[in-house]
Amino acid sequence: MKLVTYEQNGAVRAGAVVDGDRVVDVSAAGDVLRIMTDPAAQRRAMELLGDPQTARFALSDLRLRAPLVPRSLICIGLNYMDHCRETGAAVPTRPVIFAKFANALADPGDTITWYADTTREVDYEAELGVVIGKPCYRVSEAEALQYVGGYTCVNDISARDVQLTDGGKQWTLGKTLDGFCPIGPALVTADDIPDPQTLSIRCVLNGQVVQHSNTKEMIFSCAVLIAHLSRFMTLQPGDLISTGTPFGVGMSREPKLWLKDGDVVVVEIEKIGALENRVRVVESH
Ligand code: MG
Repeated sequence: MKLVTYEQNGAVRAGAVVDGDRVVDVSAAGDVLRIMTDPAAQRRAMELLGDPQTARFALSDLRLRAPLVPRSLICIGLNYMDHCRETGAAVPTRPVIFAKFANALADPGDTITWYADTTREVDYEAELGVVIGKPCYRVSEAEALQYVGGYTCVNDISARDVQLTDGGKQWTLGKTLDGFCPIGPALVTADDIPDPQTLSIRCVLNGQVVQHSNTKEMIFSCAVLIAHLSRFMTLQPGDLISTGTPFGVGMSREPKLWLKDGDVVVVEIEKIGALENRVRVVESH
């Protein structure tokens, strides 16, 4: 099921996308987290989908929110071979883990705003987001995907001049400015994506494709990442793992391609959809 969260008359509601561009109100079954994690709620949502009395809307008429509010935003660095090469970084032998905080969460369609005296080198990073559906601790790679609730798109927006100061010791700060983690537009439940390592992934900046790869190029697969993280922490429903970005970031280009005022940046993943955000840069005075 492809689930969205939308706002209507001041209320936040859960919807299921059908026929590509129609949304059925399934909020009587619960919110997206509930529908994703509770089989009874998922069955109720399916009933609502099949009921002609249920309210239906055009997707384009709705103001979407992030499909859910993640409990933790766990990020993986340097997880595509071609991205390691372009940054000149050594290929990691273990997953590189960093974090974003709740302030960074942004909705589809939000304008991401920052001050030019905080950062002048802001980059895009298209990433597959894995949302945990069941508590897991010390799970094997073979069983790891059973703990996934769904998948979404993430833009791991990054202030490179902040991230790479102090000899590269400021990753988390440079990654967690307000609004630097848009997610959405939808969450696709795991049963609809049996193999997450086969998805085309792109970033499109002002209509130009700047990243284009496939999740099969990941160094550490989603299953390996879950198994690895679960050795250190209990992953809980609603935790989001952002699985790293492929080749093509602005930092590795000559000349550099930093996000600028008025840009429109879109992260697109096969079977999930297109997460679009606009950029506003406030000049300092
Ligand atoms: Mg990243």
